[in-house]
Amino acid sequence: MKANCWMGKQHVQLRDVPDPTIVHPQDIIVRVTSSAICGSDLHLYNGLVPTMESGDILGHEFMGEVVETGHDVKTLRKGDRVVVPFPVACGTCSACTRQLYALCETSNPNAWMAQKLWGEAPAGLFGYSHMLGGFSGGQAEYVRVPFADVGPLKVPEGLTDEQVLFLSDIFPTGYMGADMCRITPGQTVAVWGAGPVGQFAIAGAKMLGAGRIIAIDRFAYRLRMAQEHAGATDIINYEEQDVLSALADLTDGRGPDACIDAVGMEAHGHGPSYVYAPDRHNDRTLLERPLALQQAIVSCRSGGTVAVIGVYGGHIDKFPMGALVNRSLTIKAGQCHVHKYMRPLLARIGHGDIDPSFVITHRLRLSDAPQGYEMFMHKEEGCEKIVLSL
Ligand code: NAD
Ligand code: ZN
Ligand code: ZN
Repeated sequence: MKANCWMGKQHVQLRDVPDPTIVHPQDIIVRVTSSAICGSDLHLYNGLVPTMESGDILGHEFMGEVVETGHDVKTLRKGDRVVVPFPVACGTCSACTRQLYALCETSNPNAWMAQKLWGEAPAGLFGYSHMLGGFSGGQAEYVRVPFADVGPLKVPEGLTDEQVLFLSDIFPTGYMGADMCRITPGQTVAVWGAGPVGQFAIAGAKMLGAGRIIAIDRFAYRLRMAQEHAGATDIINYEEQDVLSALADLTDGRGPDACIDAVGMEAHGHGPSYVYAPDRHNDRTLLERPLALQQAIVSCRSGGTVAVIGVYGGHIDKFPMGALVNRSLTIKAGQCHVHKYMRPLLARIGHGDIDPSFVITHRLRLSDAPQGYEMFMHKEEGCEKIVLSL
């Protein structure tokens, strides 16, 4: 089959690889009908995630048709259409039973690798390095999906791929960011990053009753989408305005009740931490640039919540611990526990509350994935979200 493979830093390639096979009785094989490129893929693309190997198949946002089932699979059969959550989760361990699916204790066969970096290992993720399980991803013709009775969500008839594809990741992820903020009606939420994840954090904050939602980015087309489609009431272009004073002006000087970092470790910015960090190629721990996170903490209203859904991998410095402690801030973070949110959010799509396809700006062939990664990374041609199909 054809698959989009990671070949090294900023190098992906469509390659012929062996078809996946059932290796466990609870596996299914899915023929992928749609997949997408995520901001998290860019961290792999830019070589910031250790334990990637040349030839690894990328892609953790995907859906398709079941073409084969292991003999223990009970809820799915050949021909079913499914959308697959990006964490691999067993459904029965102590983390899964607490709905912390991205922390599944049994799905990551290479847990020891992650333990070295993070103390304990999170779940395995599709297409996301060997330390996160070494699972082949879904930017491919076919993909093996373990724990088939736990993760994949059957798509009701009448919904298109584009309406439900993002249940695999970015819609639940953005929504989880808003959920972490414990929003009470009318509160103000600020969201750093108007990428696809930020758009759904904004949409989530709106669903959960926020009164004012402020989107922060530097790309006018992304801020426009946040305002016209996701539900932002205000926008701040950080190239034109000072973020901290603009936020203070919008909130009677107190700051937003909650702040969401939907940017992560590759934040763009000005000043020493942006300028120097890219040169530290030999020390991964110094590569991360927590510029959005710093602003989110410093600007948050005293007693408020900072939700971190942008991905970080190692260590950061210049962390404003003093603000966190002395102003009683709460910080919450995580890879998305997608399984927890998929069904309620599918219901919202079914009811017509939201059509997540508003983020799609480019529809490309799987064979165009290399150009897609470049375009998405450089935010060229008004690119917000790329969907790939054969
Ligand atoms: P993206 O690259 O499309 O969007 C990131 C946005 O952040 C861009 O629009 C960029 O201009 C903006 N940005 C950069 N620096 C900024 C700054 N200093 N202030 C404000 N905005 C800034 O990526 P995406 O797909 O939206 O993903 C965003 C983040 O979410 C990534 O780190 C990704 O890894 C992470 N993510 C996390 C999960 C999870 O489960 N927690 C799931 C999916 C993605
Ligand atoms: Zn993703
Ligand atoms: Zn589990």
